[in-house]
Amino acid sequence: MYKQFGISKKIVDLCAKSEKDVESVFKEIDEICEYNTLKVLKAFQDNHISEIHFGSTTGYGYSDIGREAIEKVYSQIFKAEDSLVRSQFISGTHALTVALFAFLRPGDTLLSITGLPYDTLHEVIGIRENASSLKSYNVNYDQIDLVNDDFDYEKIQKRLQTGKVKVIEIQRSKGYSTRKSIKIEQLEKVIKYIREVDKEVIIMVDNCYCEFVTKVEPIEIGADVVVGSLIKNLGGGLAPNGAYIVGRKDLIELAGERLTAPGEGKEVGPTLGINKSILQGLFFAPNVVSSSLKTAVLASKMLETLGYKTEPKYDEKRADIVQTIEFGAPEKLIKYCQGIQMGSPIESSSVPEPWDMPGYTDKVIMAAGAFTQGSSIELSCDGPIRPPYVAFMQGGLTYEYGKLGVLKAIQILEE
Ligand SMILES: *Cc1c(COP(=O)(O)O)cnc(C)c1O
Repeated sequence: MYKQFGISKKIVDLCAKSEKDVESVFKEIDEICEYNTLKVLKAFQDNHISEIHFGSTTGYGYSDIGREAIEKVYSQIFKAEDSLVRSQFISGTHALTVALFAFLRPGDTLLSITGLPYDTLHEVIGIRENASSLKSYNVNYDQIDLVNDDFDYEKIQKRLQTGKVKVIEIQRSKGYSTRKSIKIEQLEKVIKYIREVDKEVIIMVDNCYCEFVTKVEPIEIGADVVVGSLIKNLGGGLAPNGAYIVGRKDLIELAGERLTAPGEGKEVGPTLGINKSILQGLFFAPNVVSSSLKTAVLASKMLETLGYKTEPKYDEKRADIVQTIEFGAPEKLIKYCQGIQMGSPIESSSVPEPWDMPGYTDKVIMAAGAFTQGSSIELSCDGPIRPPYVAFMQGGLTYEYGKLGVLKAIQILEE
C-alpha cells in the first residue's frame, strides 16, 4: 500500500526500524492514555451523562441541560470549581481574550513569565498596535523571558515585590518560538514559588496542546484558571469549534459576563446541536492525544536519523503534542509541509503556500487536510517563514494516518 502512495522502500524500512526503537516510548503513551480515558469515563458516569444531554437549545439558550452537564464534566476532569465550555468562543485566542478582558481593569498589569506570548495575542495585549487592545484601555503589560527553557525565578520575585501584578500568564506550549514547552513539573514549581511571594495574583495558564499529555492538569497544581481550544486536544476531532475556560468560580463568572453580557453571563448560550459532538469528542480525546503523541515521536525519531534537529527528542518527556523540526532553509520547510498535505484525507491535492495570515507578523505556511477548518488536533504542520525555518507539526486523529503523513512528507523532502 505505501508504494501506491509513492513512498520508497528505503523510507518504509527506516520507518519500521524507527518504530522498533520507539516501542518503550509508545508503551508509556498507552499507559497515560488509559489513565486519562478512565478519568473521562468517571466524569461521565459521576455526572450521569445520558441521551438527554445530546439535546439542543436555540435563541438565548436558557436552561440548556446538555451544556450545563458538559461544564460539570469539564470541571471534574480539571478538578476546577467551574467552567465555561462554549461554541461562542471562536478560537483559543478568543477565549484567552475574553479571560484577559474579564480579569483586567484600567491601571492593572498583566505579566507574562514565559516570554513573548503566542503571535495572535500581540494585538490583543497591544504589543502590536491595535485600537481595541488591552493597552488601549490602559492595561499595562510586562514580560519576563525564560532562561535556558526555565522560569527566571529571581526576576519573577523582584517584579512581584516592586509593584502589583493582577494576572500572570503562563503559556505552556512553545507557540511559534524555538523554546521548549513547559512541563507540568516546571509549572508546579513556579506556581508554588509565585504563591510564596504573592497570594493574590491570578495565575492563568494557556494550556493549548497540553491537555491529556500527562496525568495531571494545571488546576491540580495551583493554577487559578486554565484556557484552551476545542479544535485542539479536548475536542477529540469531533467538536466543530469552541474553547474552554476552567478554574476558580469567581473568575469563571467574570469570564461568562464578558463573553455574553453583564447580568446574563453563563446563563445564556445556545448550543445549536453540538452537545453530542463535544461530549463524544471529549470521550475520544485521550486516545486522539495518544495518536498525536505517537505520530510526533515517530517523526522525531525518523527526522533525527536523517540528520535534522528535532525538539523534543523522541524519548524526551513531553509537555504538549507539538513536534518541531528545524530545516534551516525555507524550501525544505515548505516541501515538508506540502508532503503533510499530500498525505491528508481531505484536500490532499491542494498545495499549501506561505501567506500573510491575520494576526501573524511573518508569512506562514499551513498544511492541514482537516475535516474541521484550522483544526490542529488533526495532522497539521505549519511554520513562519523566518530563520531557522522550523516546522511545527502536531495532531493525528489516528496513528495510522499520522504515520502516512509523516512518511509522505519525508518522501517529498528527500526527493
Ligand atoms: C493554538 C494556540 C493558541 C490560540 O489558539 P487558536 O484557537 O488558534 O486561536 C494560543 N496559544 C497557544 C500556545 C496555542 O498553541
